[in-house]
Amino acid sequence: MSHSHHSVVVVGGGNAGLSVAGRLQRHGVKDVVVIEPREHHLYQPMFSHVAGGTARASMATRPQASVMPKGVGWIRDAVSAIDPDSNRLALVSGDTVGYDQVIVCTGIQKDWNRIPGLAAAVRSPSGSSHYEFDLAAKASLLLRDLQRGTVVFTQPAGPATCAGASQKPMYLACDYWRAAGVLDDIHVVMIVPDATVFGIPLIDEELERKVAEYGIELRCATELVEVDAESRVAVIAHDGATERLPYDLLHAVPPQSAPDWLKDSALPAVGDELGFVEVDPHTLRHPRFPSVWALGDSAATTNSKSGGALRKQTTVVAANVEAALRGKPATSEYDGYTVCPFTVSRSTVVFAEFDDAYRLKPTIPLWKGLARERRLTWVFDRHILPWVYWHMILKGRA
Ligand SMILES: Cc1cc2nc3c(=O)[nH]c(=O)nc-3n(C[C@H](O)[C@H](O)[C@H](O)COP(=O)(O)OP(=O)(O)OC[C@H]3O[C@@H](n4cnc5c(N)ncnc54)[C@H](O)[C@@H]3O)c2cc1C
Repeated sequence: MSHSHHSVVVVGGGNAGLSVAGRLQRHGVKDVVVIEPREHHLYQPMFSHVAGGTARASMATRPQASVMPKGVGWIRDAVSAIDPDSNRLALVSGDTVGYDQVIVCTGIQKDWNRIPGLAAAVRSPSGSSHYEFDLAAKASLLLRDLQRGTVVFTQPAGPATCAGASQKPMYLACDYWRAAGVLDDIHVVMIVPDATVFGIPLIDEELERKVAEYGIELRCATELVEVDAESRVAVIAHDGATERLPYDLLHAVPPQSAPDWLKDSALPAVGDELGFVEVDPHTLRHPRFPSVWALGDSAATTNSKSGGALRKQTTVVAANVEAALRGKPATSEYDGYTVCPFTVSRSTVVFAEFDDAYRLKPTIPLWKGLARERRLTWVFDRHILPWVYWHMILKGRA
């Protein structure tokens, strides 16, 4: 067992962790260390394309060593506990790490077991998902080979990483089935928890047009509550009543919460059973432990969780942590911006940019055109953004 101490420790080397570490390093902050157990980094937005047949699985992953920002240290381990009173982390290996400032960004936990039967169902021959890397590749084959029958897609209730991404493989598959001449023989059902397909009128209008075009049966204000994988029945709940929905293929996204080690820590707000790290929604600093910061999917921010939100969040946290190291107040503020690019066909995207009150927040001020179905945003989402991710975002340059 060993103990080390670092100026800034970043817990989690995913999208948020590498990006914020890269920014700090570029700003001249010395002794930045990332704790990350995985050997392979995952670009999760690509999972939707993998499942929908518009990208290969290999395009969603790279060796972690190849994406670590230069000059940033890497401890290949996982954090098991945090003692924010003594600025100390315990690692799974038994080692401990001390910090002056710690940035928590360990992502979100997929709670497959919270819905009875779901974990077994997505691993069965008639089940898939794109919220795990291996299942996304499986989904691609199952969706491609489906010729007829009922396919049920589900989006979970509660906080989720890029919740709208639950719908993406469905639109991609429908476009493929239409081109293959089998769409009329496939009954597509989409289960969404909210009152409308998304929740912002302009985006709803665009998505509902595609839903009608593909003949999708949209079930709003509905949740998946149980699955019987053996008899291929999804049990769904709406308005207090349950219904048994037989399927030929189930493509499901699980309910989600903060990782268990965070739930068990002192970092969530009192009474927050989902366990996300409590932060000031603007400065992203912990209100009770000033050396603790959180961003990305692990943080109890008010925005809808997405990688697109991190462009602004990482800028804010890097500036505020740098100020804190110099004994200055945190003045940089996050504005709640987030994004969900809906791949509504194999060549178009509806680019939903919005804030934490579900108001449109377009990058090009006053122009809502990107929120309409466009080829331009497809090119951006499928071809430009992945390059920007691997070469700029993970280095803290974008
Ligand atoms: C299928 C799918 C599609 C998506 N599509 C989009 C999209 O189109 N656009 C968009 O903007 N966003 C999208 N997202 C969301 C986006 O991927 C996430 O918001 C983003 O990855 C969050 O970054 P993060 O660093 O918080 O978490 P992650 O990127 O998940 O990284 C968390 C890291 O923490 C590590 N970790 C976990 N536990 C520990 C521990 N105990 N100790 C140390 N390290 C640990 C993990 O190994 C991981 O590397 C999608 C997500 C999914 C799943």
